[in-house]
Amino acid sequence: MGCRTGSGMHKTLKMILFKNSSDLRTFLENNREIKGLKTGFVPTMGALHEGHTSLIRASQAEDGLTICSIFVNPYQFNDRKDFEKYPVDTERDILLLEKAGTDMLFLPSVDEIFPQGKSLEKYEIGYLETVLEGRYRPGHYQGVCQVMSRLLTLINPHHLFMGQKDFQQCLVVKQLISQLKLNVQFHTVPTTRAPDGLALSSRNSRLSPEQRIQAAAISVTLGDIRNEFRGGDPAPVLHIAHEKLEEAGFKTDYIAIARAKDLRPLISWDGKEKAVALIAAFLGEVRLIDNMLLN
Ligand code: AMP
Repeated sequence: MGCRTGSGMHKTLKMILFKNSSDLRTFLENNREIKGLKTGFVPTMGALHEGHTSLIRASQAEDGLTICSIFVNPYQFNDRKDFEKYPVDTERDILLLEKAGTDMLFLPSVDEIFPQGKSLEKYEIGYLETVLEGRYRPGHYQGVCQVMSRLLTLINPHHLFMGQKDFQQCLVVKQLISQLKLNVQFHTVPTTRAPDGLALSSRNSRLSPEQRIQAAAISVTLGDIRNEFRGGDPAPVLHIAHEKLEEAGFKTDYIAIARAKDLRPLISWDGKEKAVALIAAFLGEVRLIDNMLLN
């Protein structure tokens, strides 16, 4: 990208930063260089790590420009404390995104996305809102849909990149895309992990050094399920997994094995249908989630 400045846009070395929607919209619509080029979009809540940069790289592997957003959406936090403690380091994020070669960053305020006085719409999420994350975080996916519908309508990207780490979120957003009849290709990007297997997450920074060591038990447990469960009734396997996690110091919200396409429960698995094991558990006050495909 060349260097451009304009009202509401701040030039960094290569990446263009937008703080308001109308500037971003005008830029996307009017900039001749962009016309004809494809755009890939990577939405985030900041506190970026290598998992996020893997999404940026996946976007760069497609032809076109990569647009990232950083927006800590207050409406997708069902737990106020989790929102207040969500790590924020925008300066560092900007440098990291620029180093990763991101073309544009959208950094809106809460008021920009959710103007005061405007009531929030309700989405028909169906079954996915009643299970796992939907069940344990009431209102979470409404918040996700509210922000994603605004971002996707504004940016109108050709490609959207989201992490398998948030498996259920990928299904919810795919469903939203089809409900809104948006012409965007969805890409699920595999989970980036630390050497001990822990899925990278912004929340990991809130773990104490001791908890950080304990935290690897989630991915170890998922790996055990994947290696040991060959089919049939998942209940005994889940029972053992639950015990292992609790022994490792976790307070488990759920451990489940479900159909990968819609997260419906698998009462008796034939070993062929695409299946996924999912865990959400607390270490102290920090809630961690992870999942692994079983086949
Ligand atoms: P967040 O900032 O946590 O909302 O995450 C923004 C995007 O990054 C979402 O699509 C996440 O699924 C994805 N993401 C978060 N952690 C990872 C990871 N460890 N590996 C791959 N993608 C991730």
